[in-house]
Amino acid sequence: MSHLDRRSFLGRVAGASLGVAAALPGIGGSLTAPRDEGTRGAQRRDGLAEPAFRPLPLGSIRPRGWLERQLRIQADGLTGHLDEFWPDVARSQWFGGDAEGWERAPYWLDGAIPLAYVLDDERLKAKVGERVAAIVRGQRADGVFGPVAAASGVRPYDPWAILLANKMLVQHHDATGDERTFRAVEASLRALGPHVARTPLFDWGKYRWFEGLVPIFQVYERTREPWLLDLAHTLRSQGTDYPALYSRESVTLPTPRRGRWTWDKHVVNTAMAPKAAALSWRLDRRADDRAFPAHMLGILDRCHGQVTGTFTGDECLAGKNPVQGTELCAVVEFLYSLEILLSVFGDPAFGDRLERVAFNALPATFAPDMWAHQYDQQVNQVQCTINPDHMWTTNGPESNIYGLEPNFGCCTANMHQGWPKLAAHLWMTTPDGGLAAVAYAPSEARFAPRGVPVTVSLDTDYPFREILELTVSAERPVAFPLLLRVPGWAVAPTLQVAGGRETATRPGTFHRVEREWRGGTRVSLRFPMQPRVTVRYNDAVAVERGPLVYSLRLEERWTRVNADRPHRELPHGDFEVRPGSQWNCGLLVDPADAASGLTFEERPVGERPFSPEGAGMQARVRGRRLPSWEMAHGWAAEVAPGLHASAEPLEDLTLIPYGCTNIRVTEFPRLRA
Ligand SMILES: [Zn+2]
Repeated sequence: MSHLDRRSFLGRVAGASLGVAAALPGIGGSLTAPRDEGTRGAQRRDGLAEPAFRPLPLGSIRPRGWLERQLRIQADGLTGHLDEFWPDVARSQWFGGDAEGWERAPYWLDGAIPLAYVLDDERLKAKVGERVAAIVRGQRADGVFGPVAAASGVRPYDPWAILLANKMLVQHHDATGDERTFRAVEASLRALGPHVARTPLFDWGKYRWFEGLVPIFQVYERTREPWLLDLAHTLRSQGTDYPALYSRESVTLPTPRRGRWTWDKHVVNTAMAPKAAALSWRLDRRADDRAFPAHMLGILDRCHGQVTGTFTGDECLAGKNPVQGTELCAVVEFLYSLEILLSVFGDPAFGDRLERVAFNALPATFAPDMWAHQYDQQVNQVQCTINPDHMWTTNGPESNIYGLEPNFGCCTANMHQGWPKLAAHLWMTTPDGGLAAVAYAPSEARFAPRGVPVTVSLDTDYPFREILELTVSAERPVAFPLLLRVPGWAVAPTLQVAGGRETATRPGTFHRVEREWRGGTRVSLRFPMQPRVTVRYNDAVAVERGPLVYSLRLEERWTRVNADRPHRELPHGDFEVRPGSQWNCGLLVDPADAASGLTFEERPVGERPFSPEGAGMQARVRGRRLPSWEMAHGWAAEVAPGLHASAEPLEDLTLIPYGCTNIRVTEFPRLRA
């Protein structure tokens, strides 16, 4: 199918769901979404519950402004070149080579494909196209693909990599319409049924069963073959029951230092799992499935949550201490989970969370040029060194250095999906033929309500600024609703349409603008950002404003290490980072009156938007050095509780967005005035 054909197909699917649309309670009545009860007829007709929003076909959204620069950095960095030198992709058994033949090549493609198509980068499109073609060519007559025999060895084959590969391949079909890719996915899923009937899911496949529902649903929505839904039910019945797991105490407890690795508390499984309930809900609309993600995130926030919106896991859930680590795979997987949750349930709170993780935890864990990344990032991370005396639960001494494959190569393979999938999910279509802005970054979306080509562009330096300028350009006059997410943190947010009166919008809702759009129409959004001082682990304080968290700006001393190891030729080397300025400071701030102690100053958003030099906003705050706050195990030790006294003089300190830092302090002792 061509792009236009698939769009009109999606339009028909969306149109068919109009009859089941109803106001979703709790979000201002401004959004339509299917109900859980009373719509069984619609479910039987369609087989799958209609999501609140549908992602646009891959390639319909293009980045602009800082987001385009960021994606270009990624394409010019490791993502655009990993396949040229890293054996586990370059010589993967998936492509007939002799290196790793399980998850790594599919992981890379899972991010490189959306990157190629959101950037419309011909070189990258050609690269991923050749690799996809190699996988499809290698498919056996019985539908099995990938190096299954080689990977099996003496153990039964864990089909996790098959679930992942199909999830990756449907993106390629979505972007290109390539029929061979679609048929390959269909045949692979058909072969999966007998496989799991013989050998029920175990290990990774058991904990990640729901990822298989992504390609299953995509194929089902086109073919309507009932066996696909049977397969989805089978995977669910064999897979981990997360609501049962999250009724146990074990997931609430931090894994001790040098503790025991468990499947249940593995941080990447945990980050992937919130989407399970959303995909499961589409199968049979169980009300429990709608309620579970917020319950699960509540437990994670309370027991392991970090100010960046993530939770710790190094590599199993590790408590709230800001010196514990969060694995990069967990960051990108959590983003994808939130994108699915936002699409299926349409709850704007998932959009707030998506932005918090994407604008803080995601960029912070890469070197600004995106050639190097960490395995574990820390919220308080004053140095990144090879340190055998580390305090991770089960990770190794190299986990927080910046490099090619610190600790373990999974993140090297899996890191690529973060930015491109965010870009591809900023805008989604609504069941009543409209468009929803579910998360904000400078971008342009094209869609065709009632067959009329429409472009909606967003020019903004958000999240570094609070003003967002949208332009809706319709080729012919056409009526459709435009839904705009209003972040829950916004204070007295407003909207102005076509130069009209400025009107108030309600935080934590989707605001609906319904009109006939003619020519070019300007829509201005203002999300006023008030500083917040939040009290966190051990009474430490953190500074937030809008979706951004702020950290102490430190001078950085980068040292190259591991230069003699294979594949560490520059620019993809390994580096330690040490502080070149004092970090052990307390802040003179008041959680009850955050604005009084903080001033914010706009700076140009840099060529590298997430680098110390490129920081588009900075904060000034009074603070002083606390000589008693020491380093332990090479990191900032736990912050002592309560208010702190010190003989050191007060001074002005500079904070920059967390995502712009490479080393940082984010949770500070609070000073006595
Ligand atoms: Zn990883």
